[in-house]
Amino acid sequence: MRNIYDYTLEDLESYFLSNGEKKFKAVQVFDWLYKKRVTSFDEMSNIKKDVIEKLKQDFTMNTIKIVERQEDIDVVKYLFELEDSMKVEGVLMKHDYGNSLCVSTEVGCNMGCAFCESGRLKKKRNLSAGEMVMQILAIEKDLSIRISHVVLMGIGEPFDNYENVINFIHIINSGKGIDIGARHITVSTCGIIPKIKEFIKDGNQVNLAISLHASNNKLRNELMPINKVYPLEDLMEILKEYEKETNRRITFEYILLDGINDKEENAIELSKLVKGLNCYINLIPYNETSHIKYKKSSKEQILKFYDTLKKNKVGVTIRREFGSKVMAACGQLRANYEEGK
Ligand code: SAH
Repeated sequence: MRNIYDYTLEDLESYFLSNGEKKFKAVQVFDWLYKKRVTSFDEMSNIKKDVIEKLKQDFTMNTIKIVERQEDIDVVKYLFELEDSMKVEGVLMKHDYGNSLCVSTEVGCNMGCAFCESGRLKKKRNLSAGEMVMQILAIEKDLSIRISHVVLMGIGEPFDNYENVINFIHIINSGKGIDIGARHITVSTCGIIPKIKEFIKDGNQVNLAISLHASNNKLRNELMPINKVYPLEDLMEILKEYEKETNRRITFEYILLDGINDKEENAIELSKLVKGLNCYINLIPYNETSHIKYKKSSKEQILKFYDTLKKNKVGVTIRREFGSKVMAACGQLRANYEEGK
């Protein structure tokens, strides 16, 4: 039995059609799930009893459990328990422009980035589309808020779980569903090129962010093993294609690691690397964790790096720091929980 939250509107329409029902029922069910937010099929009062019984036979409507919640100024971090008792995180950030949720896409991660806490615990499984959707529903309910922005930057590599991630995006983007605008959704990848190709081909309208973190292959190979499979020159080529096809601006994420990738020469190399692309670079102050040797760059170093990029005419922002008190590093809450601390 599948969970009803895994279904896109189109999936539900086909389901009803193949059961001899009008496809409009799918819109009604979506309305109950995502506008009225009921938690049982019995509450769907405009749907006939026999249809409700059939839905109950064919679908579960299980939700995810909040097992831990940590709060800091403008940030709430959640640890969720899934049906099979696996754990993932979601982080809610309160910006002046709205509430943004950082969603996990996998239980653990196989990308093995050297600086990242999530990857210390290898991937156990993909999250289903519904398990991503439920992170939004659970937090909106818990805090009585609406989430306006979603970033797929929690635990996991979205393009290592492509199909479920795309279904998730369809469900939350649908005007009949949670209705979060495509421009308010950002998917972040370490650079899995075949999936970026697919993403371009599918004509997705959501924002694309690339975790870059290095200005040359040697350094990127050390920090991100995926670079040995998909090196920078290939990555840049596919991003040019992305730009050509979509006319959209790409975001590069660049964590600043003290003495590793934060020197002036790195900034100059970086500006040459991205030259000609419609992009901007989001500089990320590193969230230190006790298990990983890297240290964050000093404020002065971050500003110097920023200035060098500016001087070289690269669009650049510095990411606001959220909740270092709440174990904000990706995967930190889960890793500590799993390791029994
Ligand atoms: N796998 C995807 C999305 C999840 S990681 C990706 O690689 O983009 C989301 C972002 O957080 C990535 O840019 C990642 O490199 C960054 N990140 C991981 N650990 C971090 C830490 N300790 N401090 C700051 N950013 C971190």
